Amino acid sequence: MKLYRIKKSNIDNKGRGLYATKNIKEGTKIIDYVGKIITNRQVDESDKYDNKKPIYLFTLNKKYTLDGDFSWNTAGLINHSCDPNSQYDGKGLKIWVTAIKDINQGEEFTCDYGFSFEKDDYKQFPCKCGAKNCCGYIVREESRWRLNKKFAMSNKKKLINNSR
Ligand SMILES: [Zn+2]
Repeated sequence: MKLYRIKKSNIDNKGRGLYATKNIKEGTKIIDYVGKIITNRQVDESDKYDNKKPIYLFTLNKKYTLDGDFSWNTAGLINHSCDPNSQYDGKGLKIWVTAIKDINQGEEFTCDYGFSFEKDDYKQFPCKCGAKNCCGYIVREESRWRLNKKFAMSNKKKLINNSR
């Protein structure tokens, strides 16, 4: 039996997400993250990999990147959360998703996408994960404190994710 099923999600990513079909223990491998292996050079040279689009790229090593932006990559439906219950793991040219907490049946699987950002590029990726520590945008954890600091300085400004 598969550990996941596809269902509508409130965290916006094509409107769908992956949900646990049973209780899952921390450390369990949930699903392979599959795609096409391309060279890092292709990433640099192709318009498809422009950083302005929501993309699904994993740098595997100095030479290769995994592009998971395909409809048959079911793991690509896993949404970002600032308080995730799963993470991307990898070895060699393979990537998969592992539970980093005990997950209850019916819970949505979430990962930290870990986007980095330059200047204000992060604003293109608002986060609606609803976690208490959500900074409002999908960015790498170590970048979040910088965003939080910015938000504190403009504290009257309403954040996209705080409307719930
Ligand atoms: Zn968030």
